[in-house]
Amino acid sequence: MNEMFLLKLGEIVLKGGNRFQFENRLKTNVARRMRPFGDFSVRIMQSTVYVEPQNELCDLDGAWDACHTIFGVVSVCRCRPCEKDLDAIFAAVMAYLGDDLRMARSFKVESRRSDKRFPLNSIQLSQEIGGRIAEAIPALAVDVHHPEYTVYVEVRDRAAYVHGPADPGAGGLPTGVGGRAMVLLSGGIDSPVAGYMIAKRGVELECVHFFSYPYTSELAKDKVLELARLMTRFCGRMTVNIVGFTEIQEAIRDNCPEEYFTLIMRRFMMMISERIARDHGCGCLVTGENLGQVASQTMEAMAVTGACVELPIFQPLIGMDKEEIVTIARKIGTMETSILPYEDCCTVFTPRHPKTKPTKGQVDHACAMLDFDGLIERALQNTELVKVRYHG
Ligand code: ATP
Ligand code: MG
Repeated sequence: MNEMFLLKLGEIVLKGGNRFQFENRLKTNVARRMRPFGDFSVRIMQSTVYVEPQNELCDLDGAWDACHTIFGVVSVCRCRPCEKDLDAIFAAVMAYLGDDLRMARSFKVESRRSDKRFPLNSIQLSQEIGGRIAEAIPALAVDVHHPEYTVYVEVRDRAAYVHGPADPGAGGLPTGVGGRAMVLLSGGIDSPVAGYMIAKRGVELECVHFFSYPYTSELAKDKVLELARLMTRFCGRMTVNIVGFTEIQEAIRDNCPEEYFTLIMRRFMMMISERIARDHGCGCLVTGENLGQVASQTMEAMAVTGACVELPIFQPLIGMDKEEIVTIARKIGTMETSILPYEDCCTVFTPRHPKTKPTKGQVDHACAMLDFDGLIERALQNTELVKVRYHG
């Protein structure tokens, strides 16, 4: 094959004794992510994943796009392998990168030689290949300080590889090395971003969504499933637990003081999410909460809602500005869907004057009338499981 990908490992290389396990997981993840695009071989050597198409039927462009969304990879290069021989390397550079080089005004060559048996060291190799390029394209100047284009030559164990500038990878840790998390996924901008941030740390995700039909429409549910599907581009396939929340919201509306509606509703969300999380082997809950954004996201309100569960609640957006969150939502491709105008169940019974500095005692008192156990059991029975994946 005359084109393949090199994925460079990120933080994994720092992981000492666990490194082997991390690398194996990454290799499995890459192989799974390449599968929809044809038959690829995937190997790991020297902190690099080698991804090589096995025949002409492979969809290289599709596979290349997917490489940018694999956690645990810091940079990705699309390259041409060739023999470890000066003539072969130069020929590969001209054939593979010639068009890019002819469009640039200046260039340099940067080489790496991890196969120390290669007769030239990396500086000599760069000089030799650089000299030949300059001769072949006279209009192109050598500029080692600020080149418009950089040619990379890597002489590794099995072959030499030539490529242009690398793209950034998805970063983070390989999916699956950090356990499982239950994301409370609403239809808004924040929660998909929160899920992405936790997934990036090597965590597999599952989602729970609270759905109040007929106060919220089927379209709102479809929107949440679409958001989950978009997230799977990075996090892999997921299950979304759609919990029927109508009875709980009506019970709160009919029995509790209005200023506590949101706080009590959020208590139920946490308690139900914790139950589902435990049943599905998830070690934490994840929300898109953000300090000071709305009345239920003050320190006091979060203390009250958090106090009813034992699992840790991770809130990766807690200290971010909306703009920063939106930038990530755009990057991961969830923004457009998040801003579709369907109601979330939070907005259905919003109090006119929500309590912003509640105490636990006040909230306990405000919901004393409710049969928590019965309401939670019935909501759990009224839960639909939907599996989502990016392809198909
Ligand atoms: P988002 O943009 O994620 O909806 P938000 O700023 O609108 O967040 P809230 O509506 O107060 O904030 O919700 C805070 C968090 O609670 C959400 O980020 C999400 O994790 C969770 N949440 C809210 N509504 C739901 C829901 N219907 N189902 C599941 N989780 C929800
Ligand atoms: Mg919301």
